[in-house]
Amino acid sequence: MGFSTDAIHAGQIPDPTTGAITTPIYQTSTYAQEALGVNKGYEYGRTHNLTRQALEKNIATLEKGKYGIAFASGLASVQAILGLVKSGDHLVVTDNVYGGTYRLMELIFKNYGLDFSWVDTSDIKNIENAIKKNTKIVYIETPTNPMLSLTDIQATAKICKAQNLICVVDNTFMTPYFQKPLELGADIVLHSTTKYLNGHCDIIGGMLITNDEMIHERLRYLQNAIGAVPSPFDCWLTLRATKTLAVRMKQHNENAIKIADYLSTNSYVKKVIYPGLKSHPQHELAKKQMSGFGGIISVDFESFNNAKKISSKVKVFTLAESLGGVESLLCHPASMTHASVPKEERDKLGITDGLLRFSVGIEDVEDLIADIEQALTS
Ligand SMILES: *Cc1c(COP(=O)(O)O)cnc(C)c1O
Repeated sequence: MGFSTDAIHAGQIPDPTTGAITTPIYQTSTYAQEALGVNKGYEYGRTHNLTRQALEKNIATLEKGKYGIAFASGLASVQAILGLVKSGDHLVVTDNVYGGTYRLMELIFKNYGLDFSWVDTSDIKNIENAIKKNTKIVYIETPTNPMLSLTDIQATAKICKAQNLICVVDNTFMTPYFQKPLELGADIVLHSTTKYLNGHCDIIGGMLITNDEMIHERLRYLQNAIGAVPSPFDCWLTLRATKTLAVRMKQHNENAIKIADYLSTNSYVKKVIYPGLKSHPQHELAKKQMSGFGGIISVDFESFNNAKKISSKVKVFTLAESLGGVESLLCHPASMTHASVPKEERDKLGITDGLLRFSVGIEDVEDLIADIEQALTS
């Protein structure tokens, strides 16, 4: 089936009780059992929920995966990944990952005896060099947030396969509409469904997708044992949202390309970072492993004052954390999403005080460009 057909139908069957075309919100914590040891396969809400199962099947299908495991947030799914290893194990991680991922690993799980190497995975040699005897996982995010640096998924997966390591890819920015890591050889795909998959800025959620039966079994166990599961209502909202994923992603991409072009020729701008621009150092890799460039653009406006001025003057863009919704948002990573990353680390990564990240929504692009224009010139 094509992407949109799967997005609309996968994982969803008319409700067996009434024939309801929309998967119901099974808002229940427990299920009646017919006799001791006899039930319909549903015992307790943390372990089994049909709305959640429908969402898991739906997103897994879009990622070309067999199994989806849903979590209460993107970070809860990162935590589940860390449940695949034990004290004394080592992970190689993209140095410029989502700020919360860095915080969870480096400031919390390091205390439990996990060892992390933070490397610039845009150069595959750095991954190879960082692998040690006790390495178990290579965790990459591509494109990264907010620097939009890319890692070659196929090359990373190949290294992992040769050394028997688990290859995890955070695919939040691209979604399966533009990038399918499992097809490129990755073992696990991670999503913050909070972003594009849900796309309407009204839930927090996470998802892991895999084709590996053993990894699935362990993740399923962790989902129930840790208990960070999403609510049936949040699953239902996300299931409703993925139906329009294709049309939304097309529009995000189209709008972002136009805005990136506009900003590239603007004299107030020091640097525009967008994988769809020929000026992006990994534009060729972007074309190879992605079928679109997404809706995120990072722009260096030279100084904190410039960034502050622009973020206070925009009217259609809203200053807010998060990204991937239908509405356009603007964020100052150094003081917002990446505030917990030490300043010298931020500078090294290029997250300067003048950097603004645009999450381009699906409004009329003329209005978005006019909004940026008035903020720059007023
Ligand atoms: C937001 C985000 C996360 C964390 O997800 P939450 O749903 O906020 O917990 C992880 N990775 C990326 C790339 C993100 O953008």
